[in-house]
Amino acid sequence: MALTFKGGTHPHGNKHFTQGKAIQVLPPPELIAIPLSQHIGAPGKALVKKGDTVKKGQVLSESQGFVSIPVHSSVSGKVKDIKPWPHFLGSTSETILIENDGEDSPAEQITHPDWSALSPDDIRRIAREAGLAGMGGAAFPTVVKLSPPAGKIIDTVILNGAECEPYLTADHRLMLEYPDDIIEGIKMILFTLGVKRALIGIEKNKPDAIKLLTEKTANINEIKVVGVKVKYPQGAEKQLIDAITGRKVPSGGLPFDIGCYVQNVGTAKSLYDAVVKGIPLIERVVTVTGKTLRNPQNFLVRIGTPIKHLIEACDGTTEPIGKIIMGGPMMGIAQSSDEVPVVKGTSGILVFSRKEADLPQEKPCISCAHCVDVCPIKLLPSTLASLIENARFEEAEEYRLFDCMECGSCTFVCPSKRRILHYIKWGKDEVIKSRKKK
Ligand code: SF4
Ligand code: SF4
Repeated sequence: MALTFKGGTHPHGNKHFTQGKAIQVLPPPELIAIPLSQHIGAPGKALVKKGDTVKKGQVLSESQGFVSIPVHSSVSGKVKDIKPWPHFLGSTSETILIENDGEDSPAEQITHPDWSALSPDDIRRIAREAGLAGMGGAAFPTVVKLSPPAGKIIDTVILNGAECEPYLTADHRLMLEYPDDIIEGIKMILFTLGVKRALIGIEKNKPDAIKLLTEKTANINEIKVVGVKVKYPQGAEKQLIDAITGRKVPSGGLPFDIGCYVQNVGTAKSLYDAVVKGIPLIERVVTVTGKTLRNPQNFLVRIGTPIKHLIEACDGTTEPIGKIIMGGPMMGIAQSSDEVPVVKGTSGILVFSRKEADLPQEKPCISCAHCVDVCPIKLLPSTLASLIENARFEEAEEYRLFDCMECGSCTFVCPSKRRILHYIKWGKDEVIKSRKKK
């Protein structure tokens, strides 16, 4: 039986637009916008000012606390301004605007072609200085994950190559085109954590990636490739751990609590780039896709490139744009402007026509329980939605509101087109606001 978790759903994959498209290097635009806040945790403090010249790879901000990492310039050029700029989470955020001089003059790079001489603390320091963050979407600082709390014993590293979100193929292409870099990054993670077992979890709709990585790791005892069932949200951290190891992360807990460490395959490659080549996180692979794009692509994109540049590089659209989503269609975030730049956690840009973006009419709940069946956390989504709709936020909390991982499976299957996830997010916001007031 294929490895998986209980619950979940099967949205149409729509990966055919880009899964056969090799990664193209996208030349950077004339203006790059680097937000100081790109990851979970405190935003950095700018180290440059308007008028400064910067090199490609130069650090632009300093960390503010443990869960904080710096950002770097992805081009060489001049700081045009530092000001609020459209941000992927909505509204605006303090952003460093850099005029690209087209030279790509590099900052000093400290390389370690033979990294075996380094210590685990050296690797953690490099991960912090290079601004590495989870590249599967959440952008949690890698150095924090590589520094588990004292007393937490990890025995299994899981590399997430599931890529269960429809449309996205960036990780798939990365596994096909950079397998050796990913494997070397996994070895660095194992060494840093002192762990002897790594499992690469890949959904079975990527047989070529499973085959290639299986061949590449055939003689490495510590690393094994595991094919997992094609089901959404198979790539969510807790669901992948469950599928591969059978272990369950407790409510409110973390993978560390059950001896696991999960990292995206792209992050393993970025660790390799930072340690061996001395390159900070200044570019990433982004799937730019959707039926309305003339030429959907997988691009290697400089961080700070605006969405509109990516759409132009796909030869534009055949119809007026109705909606742009950063990430996948299930968990991604609708964007308010095409000036929003690519950040460290941008796995995809989805472009929908007006017709595709139309929201269906919401109807009353018919108590069919489909939403309950698919919820991977075993919540009662219909109950949560109706409590929140009626402003009964405290009761919603009792129904484990904050255990919801916002996967959107409930909303996807609801025959009444209830916007369950919208209510859940609203409920969480209201509870947080009320906690702050208290
Ligand atoms: S309630 Fe939350 S976790 Fe459960 S299916 Fe809905 S969005 Fe996913
Ligand atoms: S799937 Fe929709 S209609 Fe069915 S119980 Fe859940 S909220 Fe109600």
